[in-house]
Amino acid sequence: MTESPERDRLEKQRRNERLMKEGKARFLEELHKQIQSMELLLDRMEQDFDDGLPGHFYRYAHTLKGSAPVFGFASVGDVAGLLAAEWEWTQEETMEQTAVAATVRHSALNSKAGLLQLKMELIILQRQLQVSDQKEQGLRLPGLAPAGKLLVVDDDDVLRSFLVRRFELDGYVVHESDSVDKAKQKLREESFDLILLDLMMHPKSGYELFDYLKEDPTLKWIPLIVLSARNDVHDKVRCLMLGANDYVTKPFQYDELAARIYSLLSRTRNFEQLAFRDPLTGIFNRRYFDHQIELELQRIARYPAPISIAFIDIDRFKHINDTYGHAIGDLVLQGLAHLLQQQLRSTDFLARFGGEEFVAVMPNTTGEQAVRIMEDALQLTHRQPIAQYEGQSFSITFSCGVSEWTRGLPTAHWIALADEAMYRAKQQGRDRVLLAGAKSETAAVFAQNGDLQPKRVLVADDDGILRSILASRLKKLSIQVAEAKDGEEAYRYMHDHDVDLCILDGVMPKMDGFGLLKTVKSDSSGRFRNTRILMLSGKKREEDIALALQLGADEYMSKPFSLVELEMRVSQLLGMND
Ligand code: GH3
Ligand code: MG
Ligand code: MG
Repeated sequence: MTESPERDRLEKQRRNERLMKEGKARFLEELHKQIQSMELLLDRMEQDFDDGLPGHFYRYAHTLKGSAPVFGFASVGDVAGLLAAEWEWTQEETMEQTAVAATVRHSALNSKAGLLQLKMELIILQRQLQVSDQKEQGLRLPGLAPAGKLLVVDDDDVLRSFLVRRFELDGYVVHESDSVDKAKQKLREESFDLILLDLMMHPKSGYELFDYLKEDPTLKWIPLIVLSARNDVHDKVRCLMLGANDYVTKPFQYDELAARIYSLLSRTRNFEQLAFRDPLTGIFNRRYFDHQIELELQRIARYPAPISIAFIDIDRFKHINDTYGHAIGDLVLQGLAHLLQQQLRSTDFLARFGGEEFVAVMPNTTGEQAVRIMEDALQLTHRQPIAQYEGQSFSITFSCGVSEWTRGLPTAHWIALADEAMYRAKQQGRDRVLLAGAKSETAAVFAQNGDLQPKRVLVADDDGILRSILASRLKKLSIQVAEAKDGEEAYRYMHDHDVDLCILDGVMPKMDGFGLLKTVKSDSSGRFRNTRILMLSGKKREEDIALALQLGADEYMSKPFSLVELEMRVSQLLGMND
């Protein structure tokens, strides 16, 4: 008995809510029709000043002003109120015929903006209703929009705030700026997936933002759509030539604009997916790493903060492949990518650097903090299997080297430091995380063997990172290392120095590795008699290997390669194992 009144009350409340919702939906349908009628009236008033029309318009506006708030649509009521006030004069008794004509023209002109605003409100309200419907039915928010962060740059307050509200209802995160300068500031502070730019703004036009974007490598690839009232072919051409991806003229249909944004964003993402993701693990690839690491350092130049990287290499991974097969090896790689990704924050990023090597970049993280994060990840590999297949579990450990960036440290050295620390972790027994010391141990190792004449190795490769990693690894074998970034430079160096071994990239600018190999091996002066050549090439085809060996290469390895294996081959070629 005691429950009953409460249940009744709830029942009643639910019924009221349902009625209210139905009322809202019907009101919006009605509003749609009324807006169309009011537009028609304005059109007709341009042609004839039939006494009836202005009064008619007034009544529409006046009625809306009263009814909209009943359904909770205060903003519609406000706009309608302004429209009604514009036509209030129709309610007065007398006016001279000539005065009427001028007044009608004036009021009609003033009403255009209000009517446009009503249309925007309608679009927003319909969408709100739709979204709340979907929520109620437990449906997910419109699966359509690829969520993303948009920046709307427009000095038209009404249009801008309409776009912001409407995009938010589609699930986007939206920021707004009413001037070029404010937009620049926003772009410095946050990263966006797409910019919507109005051309005609005061005091600076949208074109000025183009110049700004173009000059900043972190900004120039952001998709951009120009929104402009000017339907002028010169403007369109100019914007597209300056790098805009699309040009939409005002007034526009919201649905069309939304579809263009959607298509542009998904295209961009697909492209990024193909270009920057490793297909096996889904994490970023080396190309993305190379690109992004520079951007991170540029960001730090503006907003100083610590940043660290970690090099992660699976221990005895070959054993897994050899024992259980490559497919299980692949599962393990996926498992580790997943585990590491979960340990990282959203501002960090993880890339697959090579075969079974991963690199994590951690902005706002000191070396010590990064070591702790990686040690946590390592602990997880002890506690849980990294992969499972048909009821069998597979576990691994990894070795990790961490290095914190310090001002002035070139990117390649920074990476090499982390790689060295990882290598040390291997030497010390694997399954551990080591922090790179401030200065490399290179000098110490070299001093130990100081009485021996060091072997001289030339690393010729146009890939600066690879070159510096190789150099730093080889220096640990007390080898004297020189670097060349193209074939010509390599040739000059070999001409002037006694080089014991040249690690030669197959494809390089100016003179490629195959060309250089041929030159060196066919030289009859005897100058290169003692120079061994190890070809290191991205080309895997049998013919290339055959060609290299035919031309006289002493050894051939294809990229990607294992550093450990490379060191072994280098030691062999230099006769350092005897
Ligand atoms: P260490 O502890 O010294 O790192 O030993 P390791 O066996 O892991 O050493 P190494 O780096 O020489 O072995 C790497 C192996 O990773 C060799 C290669 O066959 C394997 N590998 C590289 N890429 C892939 C891949 O995409 N899938 C699989 N299954 N194996 C891969
Ligand atoms: Mg390994
Ligand atoms: Mg390895």
